[in-house]
Amino acid sequence: MASPPALCQAAQEQEYSAPKLNLTVADFDVVRRLGEGSFSTVVLARFRRDGREYAVKVISKNLVIRNKVIDYIRNERTILDRLHHPGIAQLHFTFQASARPPPSPPPSTARTRRDEESLYMGLEYCPNGELFEQLEARGKLPLADAVQWAAEVVDILDYLRSMEVIHRDLKPENLLIDAEGHLKLIDFGSAKAIFMPPTARRSGNRATSFVGTAEYVSPEVLNNTGISYASDLWALGCIIYQMLAGRPPFKGGSEYLTFQLVTARELEFPDGFPEAARDLVDRLLRLEPSERLGAAGLDDVRRHEFFAGVAWAGGARAANGAAP
Ligand code: ATP
Repeated sequence: MASPPALCQAAQEQEYSAPKLNLTVADFDVVRRLGEGSFSTVVLARFRRDGREYAVKVISKNLVIRNKVIDYIRNERTILDRLHHPGIAQLHFTFQASARPPPSPPPSTARTRRDEESLYMGLEYCPNGELFEQLEARGKLPLADAVQWAAEVVDILDYLRSMEVIHRDLKPENLLIDAEGHLKLIDFGSAKAIFMPPTARRSGNRATSFVGTAEYVSPEVLNNTGISYASDLWALGCIIYQMLAGRPPFKGGSEYLTFQLVTARELEFPDGFPEAARDLVDRLLRLEPSERLGAAGLDDVRRHEFFAGVAWAGGARAANGAAP
């Protein structure tokens, strides 16, 4: 399989532009299931024409329409179409299709066919699972791994800011590990694109008012007092804490109790938590978004002593690799 940068290049050239190639499900062999989303199943699929593998998100149109989340799906596609960064799982193609109809159609053929209608999003495949699984399996990470992966997330957030995108659901489940052990961000359904006009942007909001995941959600999202790039910095603080403590900083017995811990900023560090990490996390987890380190630019985060050993030139992922 080609290296991720080569695949990114291919995407930029729209090598697999669906309208040009007229892709259908018959162009792919499904290898296995990779995961489940709320409205989709993600499968590993091999493109028959050249053997390349993709993570294909199969989104049931019926489910999307029933749950009134058409905008959510459109949002992810529109935003991903614009993003090209080694720390983001590249979108290579999209198409819509019905699965092949059964050989002898049942009586309600038309309905059956409509039921099978799906949207397909072909993403760069990340073979080493989620950061979440690493944390589950390993508990606390060695400091060097935490520094490296945190640095990679800083680069991703810097790029997103340059592209005027707030992810809004940054969490270990949405950080996948590629073949070289580097992180790639997925799941832009909840993302907010500042570049989109407000009418198109309503798409960034799910049917519910709460966007994100309890343990990583920022207080301003909970209090509905405005969202900014700094909301992703809050999530970064939570992830760095979790990588070094083996648990997220705010976790109650229920979502409601977790929200209470977040809004009250009930932040305690376990014994032995590295001093520089403690200072960084403390500065990222500020209730007031504008006071968070990095609110004025990610270089302020890069300069923190926690990242003293990181060579940032050419991107943190170029410097060294974290073993998966
Ligand atoms: P949600 O309901 O959280 O919004 P979703 O429908 O947007 O989910 P994703 O979170 O994008 O779906 O993907 C679901 C799962 O599929 C992921 O947690 C991951 O395990 C797997 N997956 C997604 N993209 C890839 C990829 N590019 N490579 C490998 N596995 C992937």
